[in-house]
Amino acid sequence: MIVGAGFGGLTCALALHRAAAALTLIDRRNFHLFQPLLYQVATAALSPADIVMPIRRILHRQPNARVIMGQVETIDRLSQRVYLSGCDQEFPYDYLVVATGARHAYFGRDDWEPFAPGLKQIEDATAIRGRVLEAFERAEAETNPDERRRLLSFAVIGAGPTGVEMAGAIAELAGSSYCVLTVSRFASMR
Ligand SMILES: Cc1cc2nc3c(=O)[nH]c(=O)nc-3n(C[C@H](O)[C@H](O)[C@H](O)COP(=O)(O)OP(=O)(O)OC[C@H]3O[C@@H](n4cnc5c(N)ncnc54)[C@H](O)[C@@H]3O)c2cc1C
Repeated sequence: MIVGAGFGGLTCALALHRAAAALTLIDRRNFHLFQPLLYQVATAALSPADIVMPIRRILHRQPNARVIMGQVETIDRLSQRVYLSGCDQEFPYDYLVVATGARHAYFGRDDWEPFAPGLKQIEDATAIRGRVLEAFERAEAETNPDERRRLLSFAVIGAGPTGVEMAGAIAELAGSSYCVLTVSRFASMR
């Protein structure tokens, strides 16, 4: 039993291709998401369909694997069973791999989330894309230069690879005349 069809869970399932074992792969989505390119969806360089792939499609040549879509809610280690939310069925296992990934953190400032969504899921990317494109559209029609500058100023919190890639992609989208500001937790850069 493998819970999560991200990089970890899928790699595990594929590595067990020849194993004499019956694999069950459970994910709350029926597609694998290639997270490294989320920023390109968030900046309209790619469409969502370019970075997702049905899990069953990836495993279609693997007869020892079956895929269940469902949100794992409870794992009972004593009886070795997995339970899904909204589903009465129980899923027994002999060996369990939990590869459910990570969430972004606001380091105690969860009140920031409505203003600065994370970038972990496809919905996050399309929501950010909507906001970025709307800012450009409103700036296009704006005649007040101060308001136009405000609309075209972007703050990216976190200057790790994703933040820097996001800033670069927004700069490419904007062309040379607009201001993009990247701020990390420890330093700021332009
Ligand atoms: C924007 C971004 C850019 C990145 N860029 C890079 C990069 O350039 N290079 C690099 O090496 N890494 C990069 N990473 C990191 C990399 O994507 C992650 O390290 C990797 O995806 C982690 O794999 P995982 O299998 O642990 O989790 P994930 O890939 O997050 O997969 C977890 C899976 O578990 C499922 N799941 C979660 N909870 C449940 C539940 N309760 N029930 C059922 N299913 C559940 C989810 O739907 C998901 O499919 C990036 C990450 C992000 C967010």
